[in-house]
Amino acid sequence: MALGSGSARYGRRMDEPSPHPTEQAGPTTGADDGELPLGSDGELPLGSDGELPLDANGALRLIDVEGAPPGTFGTFEPDTPPLVDGQGRVRLSFSRVDRYGNCPRSFRYAYVDRLPQEPSPHLSFGTSIHSALEAFYDRKLPRMPTEEELLAALYEHWDTSGFVALEREEQLSYYRHAQDVLRRYHQRVAPTYRLPAATEAWFSMPIEHEAVVVGSIDRVDVDDDGRFHIIDYKTNRKVQDRRRVAGSRQLAIYALACRHLYGALPATVSLDFVVPGVAITVPLEELDLEDARQAVLATARAVRQQAFEPTPNRLCDWCDYRAVCPAWQPGAAGTQVLGEAVAELHARRRELQRGVRELRELEAGVARLREELLEPDEPGRTPGSGPRASG
Ligand code: SF4
Repeated sequence: MALGSGSARYGRRMDEPSPHPTEQAGPTTGADDGELPLGSDGELPLGSDGELPLDANGALRLIDVEGAPPGTFGTFEPDTPPLVDGQGRVRLSFSRVDRYGNCPRSFRYAYVDRLPQEPSPHLSFGTSIHSALEAFYDRKLPRMPTEEELLAALYEHWDTSGFVALEREEQLSYYRHAQDVLRRYHQRVAPTYRLPAATEAWFSMPIEHEAVVVGSIDRVDVDDDGRFHIIDYKTNRKVQDRRRVAGSRQLAIYALACRHLYGALPATVSLDFVVPGVAITVPLEELDLEDARQAVLATARAVRQQAFEPTPNRLCDWCDYRAVCPAWQPGAAGTQVLGEAVAELHARRRELQRGVRELRELEAGVARLREELLEPDEPGRTPGSGPRASG
């Protein structure tokens, strides 16, 4: 029996480094027009007791946007709930914390100024794969959907918004690539398929009185011993190494959210890199939950202080706000602008790191050669026969 599920709310699902589905910035389209928010059935939403929500004076109490579960507002669901909730807590998510960490100015443009962001093929590809996988697992009966059914879900959920600027052939090649990825996924999970406890498990988790962290966990599994396992899908081409997965703040936040939702921390957390078809799983003990909590709190405090300095970084090239960012405006008297200087710095650093790597490989090769060619002096040892025994 599923513990709970729900599709991505408040916008569409995106992948790193862009905002979480719940964090798509843009103009609010909520019920701010003075009309009462109606449910999807056109009726006023009732309280949990089935009664109209009235305050102490018997007046109709408008629904608390932040506290209401997703779907409460039906077609009036706001795209972007307020950054600071009615209790003064900053509404964050992993994506928001991550974006602030990369560049506070970009955070401001996205969530304070709510400047629109361009859709992109990468984001639409990620959204489509996530939606298809959600349909694959969000089922009532424990029968694994066939490959055809999974591909049908992709067809149904294919998000075209990021592809509209592309030629038809390019669009098709993205679609065929997504089909390939899901075919391989189907083969990979077929031997162990079981219904999860939840898909797209929505959470809204207060942290002290400073912040509320919202988000949705792609999949929550429960094993035969009743232990929880968190799975997040990634649509990057490259697999992260185990150390990076263990250091993932996103997974640490999801682990805390698991406890918030179900009363227990997960036994393991995984990043499933669906494009290369590799899942990296780490036990809970390797996560730094306190670091994640502190990162959320530090971001909330900084947002409250309106600390939004531009911080040029390697993601500037993909930033939707570069045209308005002061770091990329022409400097006085033709001096080099900060953004360009930082870009140059990153390029040089990459170059140097590549050089150091090559040097290390060369050193290792020379050491091997020396071992094989110059030290064949022990009785019974011939060149290339391996290292000498020690002791
Ligand atoms: S262009 Fe770079 S520095 Fe400017 S807002 Fe974007 S990420 Fe920040």
